[in-house]
Order: sequence, then C-alpha cells, then structure tokens
Amino acid sequence: MFENNSRTEISDLGEFGLIKRLTEGNELKNASSLKGIGDDCAVVDATSDTKKVITTDLLVEGVHFDLSYTPLKHLGYKAVVANLSDVFAMNAIPEQILVSVAMSNRFSVEAMEELYDGIYLACDKYKVDLVGGDTSNTKQGLTISITAIGVAAEEDIIYRNGAKENDLICVTGDLGAAYMGLQILEREKRIFLENPNIQPDIQNYDFIIGKQLKPECANKELEALKLAGIKPTSLIDISDGLASELFHIAEQSNVGVIIYEEKLPIDQQTFDVALEMNLNPPTVAFSGGEDYELLFTISQSDFEKVKAIKDIHIIGYCTPVSEGMFSYTKSGTKISLEKQGYKAF
Ligand code: ADP
Ligand code: MG
Repeated sequence: MFENNSRTEISDLGEFGLIKRLTEGNELKNASSLKGIGDDCAVVDATSDTKKVITTDLLVEGVHFDLSYTPLKHLGYKAVVANLSDVFAMNAIPEQILVSVAMSNRFSVEAMEELYDGIYLACDKYKVDLVGGDTSNTKQGLTISITAIGVAAEEDIIYRNGAKENDLICVTGDLGAAYMGLQILEREKRIFLENPNIQPDIQNYDFIIGKQLKPECANKELEALKLAGIKPTSLIDISDGLASELFHIAEQSNVGVIIYEEKLPIDQQTFDVALEMNLNPPTVAFSGGEDYELLFTISQSDFEKVKAIKDIHIIGYCTPVSEGMFSYTKSGTKISLEKQGYKAF
C-alpha cells in the first residue's frame, strides 16, 4: 500500500543516496548516543553502574506482515514498537536502535520514506535514537531487521525466571485486540480479492484494527509500578499470546499457574468481534498475538499497591510447579492451559 503517488526508483539514487535521503535531518536525543549514522560504527556511552540490554527482531514480508493492508508508515512504527517492547520487558529504558532493510525494486524511494516516517515517529514517541543500520537490495519483497539497545541499573533488570509460588500474575491493558484486528483485515482482503469493487468495511473496527496496525508499548504501566514501589518478580512482553508467555515464565521460574478467565481484560469490541467470528473471547485473549502488553508477577504483599494502578489487571497466581498450568472458565470449570501461540491458532 503506497500512499505517496510520485515514484523515484531506488536505483536512481543508489544505496548511499538512499541512506542519505532516509537519514538526513535525523537528530540524536539521548546523551548516551555519542555518534550516530555516518561512520563505520555508532558509538554509545557505557557507564560502570548500568548495564546495556540488546535485542533484535527480523521481519519478513509475507511471513510477518502483509503490505496489502499494512501501510508502510504503520509497519515502520510497529516494527520499532515490537523491538522496544522487548527492552521494556527487561524493565530497561531503550535509547538506540539500528535499522537494516533489504528491498526489491518493487519499492520506490518514496515507499522507503514512508517506512522511515513511521520509524522516526516511534523514535520520537519513545525518545530513542536511530544510530545506524544497513541497506541492501534483494530479489523479492521487503525485509526489516531492527536492533534496540537499552539501559538499566543491574538491580532493576527483571528476567522471566523470578516468579515464586503464590505470586500474583498481572497483565497490562487488554488482550486479543490485535489478533481480532488481524482477522478483520484478512477477511476484508479476501472479500476484496473476490470482488475489487466492494469497499472494505472496517469502520466499526477502529479499535482492534488500530491495535493491530499501530500498537504501543506498555511503558507507562512500568513507570506506574516503579512509582508505587513495586518491582515485579518476573516480566515478559506479550508478543506471541498470553498462554505462550505464561509458559515461558512458568518454565523458567519453575512454577505452575492458575488463571481466572473472567479476570482477563478483553475490550468490548474484541469480545463482540470474537463472537461474530465464532471464536471464544478468552481463547482469543490467551492465543492472540501482537498485543505488546506486559505480563508480570508480583509478590502477594504488593496486592494493595497494585490494585490502585489503572490498566493493570490481576488475572491469577503462581502455584507449585507440580500443580501444572490451568485456567478456570467463567462457569468454574478447571481446564488445562494450551501452550499454543497465535501462529498455531
Ligand atoms: P558500511 O559500509 O560501513 O556498512 P554503510 O554505507 O552501509 O556503511 O552505511 C553508512 C552509514 O549509514 C552507517 O552509519 C550506517 O549505520 C548507516 N546506515 C546504513 N543503512 C542504514 C539504514 N537503512 N538505516 C539507518 N542507517 C543506515
Ligand atoms: Mg553497510
């Protein structure tokens, strides 16, 4: 989906010309970004009393995104958010990203500029500097790889392995919305392919489509936790779906879990569209991916403090590992949690 109508071939500019076009005017915001784009390496400051966290993501057209309904600007924004979400999920603050792209000649300079508009928008929103990357052409499609660097005091870093028996299990925001947004986009794409004259019917699905195309990081909730004096015992971001992430925490922390389905935060639109598509809303919340909310555990002693924080929901608690992984349905039936992420959905 190319919104810009004029078309400049990337070959007209060449690789260096394209990099220049995409990165001119890029300003560094963080004191730790000592040298950005323009040399053989970026240079970032390292202090002796903090640690760096580093993560990378690879996004391949046709596997991770579909440009028939994803505007390039949204794709750029989302690619950065997905990456920064991993940094926040260590309880660290992201400061730099590197962006590598490989694109076929199907993509114009203007298309790449749209992608970078989204990348810069996310950089501004989350106060992150673009300090480098790499650029290549490729025979087919678009591939994007983003690496993020964050900083945290060693004692603030939170791993997946710290959950203890009886800890409360919490999530931010709402779940399953991005997955239902994707279902609507896929449905409208199928209808469009069958009959290009039919206009897509997406007006009533603004919230879930927004969650799919332009997700945000749950860093505000982390700040709220810090302000309340709560340090989660384990923390992970929900990219593959709640159930899959619960298994990661449980396996690494050596605990079991009990989840109450009625406690799952599911937005009304997510709920309604799930029913419309004959899906069980809690199943969508457990298995739908790409919400970029946070899943974490806290000590029981923090219960009163966490209750007061907006957009944080207690959905269950940790049990001895021997008790396994279960959820209770609304009607009180105890069922075994399935590991599946949204890919197997
Ligand atoms: P090198 O030959 O050392 O790989 P490049 O010519 O690829 O250098 O890149 C020149 C500069 O531009 C470097 O600072 C690099 O990090 C940056 N850069 C290259 N491609 C991108 C990109 N797609 N996005 C952001 N920065 C990039
Ligand atoms: Mg290079």
